[in-house]
Amino acid sequence: MTRVLISGASVAGPALAYWLHRYGIDVTVVEKAGAVRSGGYPIDVRGTAVDVVDRMGVLPQLRAAHIDTQRISVLNGAGKTVAAFGPDDLTGGQPGQDLELPRGELTSILYAQTRDRVEYVFNDSIATLTQHADRVDVTFDVGGPRSFDYVIGADGLHSNTRRLAFGPERDYHHYLGYCFAGFAVPNPGLAQEAILQNTPGRLSALYAVGKQPWVHALLAFASPEPARRQSVEEVRELVGRAFAGIGGETPGLVAALRDADDIYFDTVSQIRMPNWINGRVILAGDAAYAPSFLSGQGTSLALAGAYVLAGELRNGTLPAYETTMRDYVTRNQALADSAGIGILPRSQAQLWLRNQAFRLLPLLSRTNLVGRSARNAATHLTLPEYANSTARGDRR
Ligand SMILES: Cc1cc2nc3c(=O)[nH]c(=O)nc-3n(C[C@H](O)[C@H](O)[C@H](O)COP(=O)(O)OP(=O)(O)OC[C@H]3O[C@@H](n4cnc5c(N)ncnc54)[C@H](O)[C@@H]3O)c2cc1C
Repeated sequence: MTRVLISGASVAGPALAYWLHRYGIDVTVVEKAGAVRSGGYPIDVRGTAVDVVDRMGVLPQLRAAHIDTQRISVLNGAGKTVAAFGPDDLTGGQPGQDLELPRGELTSILYAQTRDRVEYVFNDSIATLTQHADRVDVTFDVGGPRSFDYVIGADGLHSNTRRLAFGPERDYHHYLGYCFAGFAVPNPGLAQEAILQNTPGRLSALYAVGKQPWVHALLAFASPEPARRQSVEEVRELVGRAFAGIGGETPGLVAALRDADDIYFDTVSQIRMPNWINGRVILAGDAAYAPSFLSGQGTSLALAGAYVLAGELRNGTLPAYETTMRDYVTRNQALADSAGIGILPRSQAQLWLRNQAFRLLPLLSRTNLVGRSARNAATHLTLPEYANSTARGDRR
């Protein structure tokens, strides 16, 4: 029996585990955290990826978790509303088709779908990989050495597997010019809505998932150099400096950052690689082709990539994983460029133009022009058919 080791148990990892198991492959998933991370900003499952979750039999659960955001309000630096629209007006999303749900709910659903069928090892990480003609020998930080036929890195933007098998992150990391801090704050009375406040090169955002008692806060800012990953205190100071002097909602958010104990700080970046396969080590999801949250497509790429990689691995046609996915990945990564101008305009002139366009969004979206490139990118991939991949519903 073919044995595959997957590093990372978030979106790409458990989705891959599902498909590989369905094809009769023996799967082990190693995750450095103590459990599947349940926290969660909202993520999108769009276009082709909806077909993938349908084929996995989890579409009804995902639909039940859909947060159905009703309104995005855009404020100026003084906190005055300059535009308001529905999320689909902006993204070209297909109402009733595309899904938005807390990331932790998606990972929990994918984990529940696979936990009894594949081996999960938490609190561990790959230490070394040694490739041979017929296997990969793996040592772990904690567990004893083991051998697998293939190793798949689904361990995110800062992938450990990529570093071990493909080289240092700097060779593939493409910085998009922004850094951000994400954290939770008490809900000031929002329900199913998001509030964005922009000044040139700055974005503060509140995102209310349903009617939860807390909301997701995001403070993102342009920075010529990628800020290094640093201590929580340094993050608070750096972000506080970046947002000094801005009115409206922002001072409250910067103050909340001082009390937050769940701060997630990173650069807004993509991973761009010429190859995702090196012998018997393969990359998937953000580890291979992170498009950044500006594209809104990271989760969908991870889900579709898992489907294609598992199918080609099973068929013994692994190189087709790259050829099938490449154009879809490139188109979705390209969305981040235009989204960057829309979500984080850098100059006063860009911001003014953006605000005029946002005011017209509800009208423009009816013309089918706005959001067309996002919609086309999300649906660009037609899923290949693999034996036993088409039947909907759970197949134990
Ligand atoms: C603030 C923010 C907002 C976002 N918004 C959206 C959005 O609106 N829409 C959207 O589609 N996407 C969004 N994304 C992106 C989305 O979360 C990712 O694209 C998606 O989760 C990719 O899944 P993945 O499984 O490839 O990687 P990840 O979700 O990053 O998971 C990687 C997993 O690997 C584990 N891991 C890391 N190192 C190791 C190691 N050494 N050994 C073992 N395990 C390891 C991690 O603990 C984690 O469980 C957003 C991301 C962020 C940060």
